[in-house]
Amino acid sequence: MVRLFDEPGTRGSEPLLIASLLRTPLATAPHQQIVYRDVARYDYLTLRTRIGKLAHALSELGISAGDTVAVMDWDSNRYLESYFAIPMMGAVLMTVNLRLSPAQIAYTLQRAEARVVLVHHDFVPLLTELRAQLPLVTQTVLLEPDAADECPIGPRRLDYEDLLAVADADFAFGEFDERAVATTFFTTGTTGMPKAVCFSHRQIMIHTLAVLGALASPQHGQSFRQGDVYMPMTPMFHVHAWGLPYVATLLGVKQVYPGRYEPARLLALREREGVSYSHCVPTILQMLLDAPQSATTDLRGWKVTVGGAALGESLARAALARGMDVFAAYGMSETCPFLTATRLTGGDQSADGAAEITRRCRTGLPAPLVDLRIVDEQMQEVAHDGETMGELVVRTPWLTGGYVNDPTATAELWHGGYLHTRDIATIDQQGVVQIRDRLKDVIKTGGEWISSLLLEDLIGRHADVGEVAVIGIADDRWGERPVAVVVARAATVDHLDAAALRQHLAAFVLAGQIPKYAVPERFEFVASIPKTSVGKIDKKHLRAMLNSNVSPSAN
Ligand code: AMP
Repeated sequence: MVRLFDEPGTRGSEPLLIASLLRTPLATAPHQQIVYRDVARYDYLTLRTRIGKLAHALSELGISAGDTVAVMDWDSNRYLESYFAIPMMGAVLMTVNLRLSPAQIAYTLQRAEARVVLVHHDFVPLLTELRAQLPLVTQTVLLEPDAADECPIGPRRLDYEDLLAVADADFAFGEFDERAVATTFFTTGTTGMPKAVCFSHRQIMIHTLAVLGALASPQHGQSFRQGDVYMPMTPMFHVHAWGLPYVATLLGVKQVYPGRYEPARLLALREREGVSYSHCVPTILQMLLDAPQSATTDLRGWKVTVGGAALGESLARAALARGMDVFAAYGMSETCPFLTATRLTGGDQSADGAAEITRRCRTGLPAPLVDLRIVDEQMQEVAHDGETMGELVVRTPWLTGGYVNDPTATAELWHGGYLHTRDIATIDQQGVVQIRDRLKDVIKTGGEWISSLLLEDLIGRHADVGEVAVIGIADDRWGERPVAVVVARAATVDHLDAAALRQHLAAFVLAGQIPKYAVPERFEFVASIPKTSVGKIDKKHLRAMLNSNVSPSAN
């Protein structure tokens, strides 16, 4: 039997709490800057003071340990303050996915039992519209409001800066169990309604250290370390902006928060503040390169981790041609999210640098502490030959324990003792992983998920539709776009067209059931849809045919 060293939280085993991430920067870089557009610029000492004030203001609003506080904001210094103040109180930070449909936003706020919502001016009309569906929310606090804004929920209008101005900074943050829930948010990368995942202080702390290890240690190229200037370009509502604000704070580097992502502003901040490290999905990188201001901005030396979807070689090539240092990483909402990052070897001697570009785009090697396997249906590891495909499953100390209140989906996620990513990958002799396909019935467009099953259901409700399949097709700009393959009912085969179906879907957009970007541009009308041997729609077959531009009816 093992001999236990100590109980967590007793002598020698201080609990792993998010508050301790602030210690080193406050001691070693107290005057380092935090910048939010042209709106705020202050140092780490002020950050710490404002964290105390925010906690104090929230406790005055009745928030205590275990309560959920939701944030609906673009990337800002206030979001960073929430990343610390709310979990440091023992409360739960809910980061609201701003790209969900109104109905889904209401659903997620309700399910998370949010009591207070910090809301940016841009979302005040939305929250006002939803207020009848949010009986548990007692108060909203306005971020960057207009004078005319009314508070969507609560007895009186409260503004964030006014609250902080009068709040006491000396909030007594207590010490508690490191397994306390720190954050929660909803993933739409599954079928059905969005599902809640949550992460503890302990998990976020270990994740922070492991990501630091993965990004700060490479011998060649890609790195994030002291001296860098950090600016996120993956929204702070999406998996803690991949956890990088916590890493940046621990490093004590200058941090720049850009608000809503507009290419011109991101490029201007890069130049003015000297941003040297960022992370984003491929679509944002493409937008930056395509922006008119890009031609006159010096992008040289800008290190950018690209994840959330595969980094294509042509995009990597375009970024490298501008002097950027781009490299791939991989993870998912359920995994906090970091799992792998590519690693350069520094040994590419080929004349055109092609091997290095390929290396930059690979899904990569496991981060420290990640037990990653590629397995067949019997959970047996596949050959490490770079060719045999299997499902990527993982264990690490920072994975979600399951979907909140959803035992069936949790059991599927964790069957066999490993977290199932539903991604299909290969692994080679050097342990390099490459994602090849996806088992999930979801489509990723511009970094956001669309459920193909939901779209099939909605399109199928049109009276003239006999059968429908929706699949994701590669798209240079968005990564993937949904394409609907439709069989019309015999009697209506002559008059059913794309315009009618788009109009049909517009009603669901208006009702807040699906976001606008879920409506396909392309509809293919066919005589029949190919099926697998067991009668299921053969999406793999459809995808291959549409990708090669062969009409799906041609089989
Ligand atoms: P999300 O939960 O929205 O962060 O999405 C996670 C999913 O995005 C993964 O399970 C993959 O399907 C996909 N993904 C993330 N990073 C990559 C990558 N580097 N290459 C390919 N797919 C990726």
